[in-house]
Amino acid sequence: MSAKTWRASNLEITRILEHEKPFAAPSILYPALTPETLEKHRPWLEPNLLDPTTGNVVIAFHSFVIRTPAHVILVDTCTGNDKTRPHKTNYHMKSWPYLETLASAGFHPEQIDIVLCTHLHVDHVGWNTRLVDGRWVPTFPHARYLIGRQEWNYWRVAEQRTLYTTDPYYEDSLLPIIESGQADFVEMNHAIEDQVHLEPWVGHTPGHVCVRVGSGNTQAILNGDIMHSALQCAEPDINSCFCIDAEQARRTRWAFLEQHADTRTLILPAHFPTPTAGHIRRDGRAFRFDFDR
Ligand SMILES: [Zn+2]
Repeated sequence: MSAKTWRASNLEITRILEHEKPFAAPSILYPALTPETLEKHRPWLEPNLLDPTTGNVVIAFHSFVIRTPAHVILVDTCTGNDKTRPHKTNYHMKSWPYLETLASAGFHPEQIDIVLCTHLHVDHVGWNTRLVDGRWVPTFPHARYLIGRQEWNYWRVAEQRTLYTTDPYYEDSLLPIIESGQADFVEMNHAIEDQVHLEPWVGHTPGHVCVRVGSGNTQAILNGDIMHSALQCAEPDINSCFCIDAEQARRTRWAFLEQHADTRTLILPAHFPTPTAGHIRRDGRAFRFDFDR
């Protein structure tokens, strides 16, 4: 199933799946993960979270659409189509049926009011734009694109982008929305509306935010790349190879897990494969992720 919907208060959150696959070897994605630690967790990771055939960690790329009485908000825009990515070949020149999946969930690009990326890595900005007659144009013609000021200030520096990748994602997925006049720079605690606001949870990137939805006992949080798989609930010290500030990424992960463990808050990570959502439970000295099946 490509689209799944949850509710938080009177809001609706729908996952729009771009793609899901055995993505990378655990030793690549998690450089500090030892073979012994992996073996300890293998029994519960296989087959859904760790593919027994390839041995790779299964990763999903999806957006979440938050429908409120006032807005339709799209969070994270995956990898996109037709993008030249010679160094990130998983995302190179793809033709995903993403807009078809979005339409089948009841959303057309014209209906999206707000686009927000939890951070500006290449796999979170792809559908910001699409290729039309040889030009990159905003995919969502009526949307305001919210960009975290702190995140932007980091990635706008070419030398810092080069440390991450030389693929032209800044040129094809970010600059066109600035040039179209659709970008609004916001602070990391920006409130989009009463029951939808950003929270700073930095470390993975310098301006990484989460999106808290709902209130009181009916809350959900879209927590971006604080963790790439449920293995990091059991081993919170393990960073992904994409975490920019290693120490801060670990501190943030521990704090996030502590704050949400054994609460009713629904957790919606940016890369957890189907069924994606769940709750964090305390488990010994660490945590586990109970998928909401
Ligand atoms: Zn990501």
